[in-house]
Amino acid sequence: MGDRTVYDELGIPRVVNATGTKTRIGGSRIRPEALDAMKRAANHFVKLSDLQAKASEVIADATGAQAGYVTSGADAGMLLSAAAAIAGNDIAVMDKLPQTDGIADEIIMPRTHRTGYDHAFRAAGATIVDVGTNDRVLGTGSTAVEPWEIENAISERTAAIGYVQKPYTEPPLSEVTDLAAEHDVPVIVDAAAELPPKRNLRTFTEAGADLVVFSGGKAIRGPQTTGIVAGRRDLIQSIALQNLDMHAANQVWEPPSQLIDVEAIDGVPRQGIGRSLKVGKEELAGLIVALESFLESDPDAMRDHWHREAQLIADAIDSATGVETTLNSGGEISVASEVVVRIDPETAACTATELVGDLRSETPRVFVGADRLDENVVTINPMCLDEPEREYVVERLRTHLELA
Ligand SMILES: *Cc1c(COP(=O)(O)O)cnc(C)c1O
Repeated sequence: MGDRTVYDELGIPRVVNATGTKTRIGGSRIRPEALDAMKRAANHFVKLSDLQAKASEVIADATGAQAGYVTSGADAGMLLSAAAAIAGNDIAVMDKLPQTDGIADEIIMPRTHRTGYDHAFRAAGATIVDVGTNDRVLGTGSTAVEPWEIENAISERTAAIGYVQKPYTEPPLSEVTDLAAEHDVPVIVDAAAELPPKRNLRTFTEAGADLVVFSGGKAIRGPQTTGIVAGRRDLIQSIALQNLDMHAANQVWEPPSQLIDVEAIDGVPRQGIGRSLKVGKEELAGLIVALESFLESDPDAMRDHWHREAQLIADAIDSATGVETTLNSGGEISVASEVVVRIDPETAACTATELVGDLRSETPRVFVGADRLDENVVTINPMCLDEPEREYVVERLRTHLELA
């Protein structure tokens, strides 16, 4: 905790992260071996397409998909997946995106799968067609969407079906991929935050998804600006063609054959819609190493470690007046165990909202989970805390709750 950080040198407050992997405060702590790979990658040159071809192999091995690609985040992976679904390997369509007049550009999504992140689909030129209802959330019906409602929306304008994977999303992915396959429509799965468990790297591909998107900057703990797309070889080829700087004289155009089949394409494409989603050699090398480490990691040991850390935090603040702590032991909702701190606004030293606001505005800033303030609940997630930081967070909590 004591070391002077680069942020101190810049004169801005650093953040002690007690809320888990949140992009707006820097995501996760990159694996040291990935950081080392980035440093070493920076000193030498390489053909990015060769490096993407290698990444494709590693991702294919890890996921069971035919091929893979490294993007500048899961969101970028969604944009590129939509672009691939719309353009296929037609370089004239690639050239037009995001303009789609006269081109099949619809992505069908269950209404309850809509998130702010689907702007990425629209940015590629897609029109989202949402189906089903919000009945489950409102308590006005027992299901949100029926498979026939998705099927009914498929037409000659359809480019893909978009599916957001969560342990509780419906209908089951395999029902959607079955009906999609009957109509020869690709299914794009946003599984950005669905790791761990490690086996989820394979689960959605095995369930028949054509493209599956994961974030590289969450539990994989790769570079913040990375994501992974795993999927069908022809669609990954389209992603590569729309992301990489391809343009070269035809005679010397030699993209790696594992990634791009030159025979299948009508010429050399120019910079595509994905060109602004650049991935550098440093990020590529870092992500490959991080993914390999993630595959070797022991999830049980990590889960036990985080659970002990959460327990320590809970025990240290539990006796404060008006405070009740419980442990949410990870699993379906969150990767690590979280401390759920319920604060009685009448009797505690401060309200949940005051606690969150005060912690955020001190130096260093302390970020705790604030998604449940309407229930007077603050959550503490130990995933991004080292031991001195955990001690510091406990000290700050005890001070604000007037235990210290
Ligand atoms: C985090 C997240 C994303 C975005 O991931 P990035 O790697 O930050 O681009 C997209 N979709 C969902 C569901 C997410 O949780």
